Order: sequence, then structure tokens, then C-alpha cells
Amino acid sequence: MNASPADQLRLVEVAGLDARIRQADHARRNPPQAARVQELLAQRQTLSQELTARLGSRDDLRAELSRIESDVAVVDARSARDAGRLATSSNSKEAQGLESELASLARRKSDLEDAELEVMERLEQADASVAAQEALIAETNAQGAELSAEAKRVVAEATAAFDAATRDRAALAGSVPADLLAEYEKLAVRSAGAAILRARTCEGCNMVLSGTDLNALRQAAEDAVVYCPECGSILVRTYDSGL
Ligand SMILES: [Zn+2]
Repeated sequence: MNASPADQLRLVEVAGLDARIRQADHARRNPPQAARVQELLAQRQTLSQELTARLGSRDDLRAELSRIESDVAVVDARSARDAGRLATSSNSKEAQGLESELASLARRKSDLEDAELEVMERLEQADASVAAQEALIAETNAQGAELSAEAKRVVAEATAAFDAATRDRAALAGSVPADLLAEYEKLAVRSAGAAILRARTCEGCNMVLSGTDLNALRQAAEDAVVYCPECGSILVRTYDSGL
């Protein structure tokens, strides 16, 4: 196959644009923040499960507290009733019974108040532990939102680069002879497709060509399409090829 050196150089530009298109495509599909966002989502789920457990413990304590409070109310009502009856009782035996019951109600109330204090302390700790967990979740959410926004920016930039390179590629490919472009596209599946030979090195695979290969290239016509013996790319010769 023959192609002018200018067309061959345009082909290398097409290869460069194809590489940029691939990079931009990879970047827009895999923003570096994505993995961390996934980690944060998993972390939030774990934190939320723990929050549910802590809310459950706090609810239990609230229920316990309200049971104690209603027990206190029952004791108070009964003490008030007994005190009223004692005030109007003329029967000393009945009065003795009421006094003894009042004393036992007072002990009961004192026990209930001790228990109430203890539950209130635990409830305070439970409130603090719920608040701490909610703060952790809020922090995780904020981090996730920040990273998602960054990822969106990266994807938008990569998409813009992809679109620009795709437009440039289409315009440039239109100026390359169809048979040369087809040859490149066939080779580009497995290699750079087309690469400059600079200082005896193929820029497609970075291999230095042997003396024998270089001699063969020296003998090839200027408009002959030649190939890298290492990677198979179309090898484009320039003044600084080292031939
Ligand atoms: Zn090569």
C-alpha cells in the first residue's frame, strides 16, 4: 500500500485522537471517586443499622421510665387515699393498719424514685449515643455528597473531552484516504495502529528497531506504507526517525 508522508502523518494524529477518546471514555465511566462513594454508602448502611439499634434501646428506656412514673402515680394516689382515711379514722386498729401501709408505700415510692433516677441517667446516655450516631451519619452523608459532586465534575469534563476528540477525529479522518484509514482501523484493534518512528524507536510499542529492520526501512520508498516489526503498527517515518 502507498500513501503520501502527509497522509501518513495525519493517520498518526488520528491515532492520537483515538487514544484520547479511549482515555476520556474510561475516565467518564470510572471516576476515581466512585469506589469511595460506594464505600461510604456501605458505611452509611452499617451506621444506620446501629442507629436503629440505639433508637430501640432508647425507646425501651422511655417505656421503662413511663412505667415507673405511672407506678409512682399509683403509689401517690393510694398514699393520699390512706392519709385521708387515717385523718378521719376513729378506729385505732384501722389507724395502725393504715399507718403501716403508708410506711410501706413510702418505702415503695423511695425504691421507685431510685429506679427512676437510674433509668433517667441511662436515658441521658442513650440520647447522647443516638446523637453521636446521627452526627456520624450526617458526616458520612456530607462526605458522600461532596465526592458525588466531584465525580460529576470529573465525568462532565471527561465527557466534554470525549465529545471534542470525537468531533476532531471525524473531521481529520475525512481527510485521510479511505484505504489507509481502513488499514489503520484494522491494525488499531491490536496495536496503536499507526505510530511515529523516532530515534529508531517505534512510539507505538517503544521498541528500538534492529539494524536489519532499519536497513529495510531505508530501502522502502517514501510513500510506501511500512509496519513496525514488533507491534504491527503502521510506522510513519519523519526527519528524526534516525534512518
Ligand atoms: Zn511498534
